[in-house]
Amino acid sequence: MSLQGPKTAEWFRRSKRVMVNGVSSQFRYWGDADTLVIDRGLGSHIFDADGREYIDYQLGFGPVILGHADPYVSQAVAEAAFRGNVYAMTQEIEVEAAEAVIAALGWASQIRFTNTGTEATMHAIRLARGWGARDLILKFEGGYHGAHDYVLFSTAGAPPAHLGSRLRPLPIQASSGIPESIRSYIRTLPFNDIELLTEFFEDHGHEVAAVIVEPMAANFLGVLPEPGFLETLRTLCSENQSVLIFDEVKTGFRLGLDGAVGAFGVVPDVATFAKSMGNGFPVAAIAVSEEMSEGWRLGGIAQAGTYSGNAIAAAATKATIERLSDGEVYRTIARTGGALMDGLRKILADHGMAGSIVGHPSMFSVFLGEGKPTEYRDLARHDSRIYNNTVLAMIERGVMPCPDAKETWFMSAAHSDADVARTLDVFEEAFTETLARAGSLPSFEDE
Ligand code: PMP
Repeated sequence: MSLQGPKTAEWFRRSKRVMVNGVSSQFRYWGDADTLVIDRGLGSHIFDADGREYIDYQLGFGPVILGHADPYVSQAVAEAAFRGNVYAMTQEIEVEAAEAVIAALGWASQIRFTNTGTEATMHAIRLARGWGARDLILKFEGGYHGAHDYVLFSTAGAPPAHLGSRLRPLPIQASSGIPESIRSYIRTLPFNDIELLTEFFEDHGHEVAAVIVEPMAANFLGVLPEPGFLETLRTLCSENQSVLIFDEVKTGFRLGLDGAVGAFGVVPDVATFAKSMGNGFPVAAIAVSEEMSEGWRLGGIAQAGTYSGNAIAAAATKATIERLSDGEVYRTIARTGGALMDGLRKILADHGMAGSIVGHPSMFSVFLGEGKPTEYRDLARHDSRIYNNTVLAMIERGVMPCPDAKETWFMSAAHSDADVARTLDVFEEAFTETLARAGSLPSFEDE
């Protein structure tokens, strides 16, 4: 059965003629029969080209924290658009947006705006390398830091079984077209393993330009940092003069106004933001400590972008932060996301299914496997076949988490108690049906 209604199928045929696989980003291609074409979104709901309505838990891979087409942000963006967008010069609204970001974060001295998370991490890594005159980057298995060559290794697409020994992991290239030599600049380690991290720094600390980490593993299941992990990372980076980069593209402005720093109490040297900072409008930023901003200013480290700090992005940022500032959005999400997590946990228990609900009320996942996942390799224990089929059955019923078994569900302030109740009913139905068919289900990994 296809997820596409007749109009969606026609739009997809058109999109396939003019865009590679009919999409503008590879993660959006769900196969020829199931890739959807969306007409519009409003609040927590989206509508496809056939007018089919879905409660949306993808939220564009996370950014839409206030809900789709939030009137306050849309108004600010519309007003900005009528005043012109780029000038090859700093503009007032850009300064106001930067002030709002700095005030929200609390720890950062300065920022530079970019347009996407990929640009932000690319520049953050160049800054770290320029600052320390070193080349080596350490990242963690399953972490995703954008689509540029330096970070497309051992991302959440890598089969856990291909990652080599845990003691000496192999950085697995996630795309063709990356020069072979780039691999020599990257090392990978399992997330949350303090012992391996400490050993690695004993041997290589003096070579490490930067460690880039999602402080909460938002690209695989929303796995949380174990106590001591981020603290150890902080200490080792300081001792070795390696730059600690928090990639807060998903956690930033989502876990709270001060993101992962507020949630976990560890302060990086550099952090990258995007997504929830602009409620879905294209904006990103690199935030730096005072020491790093000094190094950046004096060190001849290049960062540039025609659209960086453009008025629409700045207006979206300023308006989004204004909406987030009184904490009401976070309180709502803590309540609705918490209720959804509890409800899902109960359904797994009622079915006697080994599994857990992993993460944070704002961004969590359903892990169908024994024990608690703490690192990417634990995905080998996740029953992605049951999970994927359950999610497809949910989408058919109008509730849409991402069908990728590693992706989290995202909550927005617009998700209501009624959305949560409906979602739990639909999950229960879809899960029960999937378990009943368990013997004859297709495995998506085999396709
Ligand atoms: N870092 C993280 C943690 C991300 O999740 C993403 C995107 N999902 C990126 C960087 C890249 O951001 P963008 O897609 O805006 O380039």
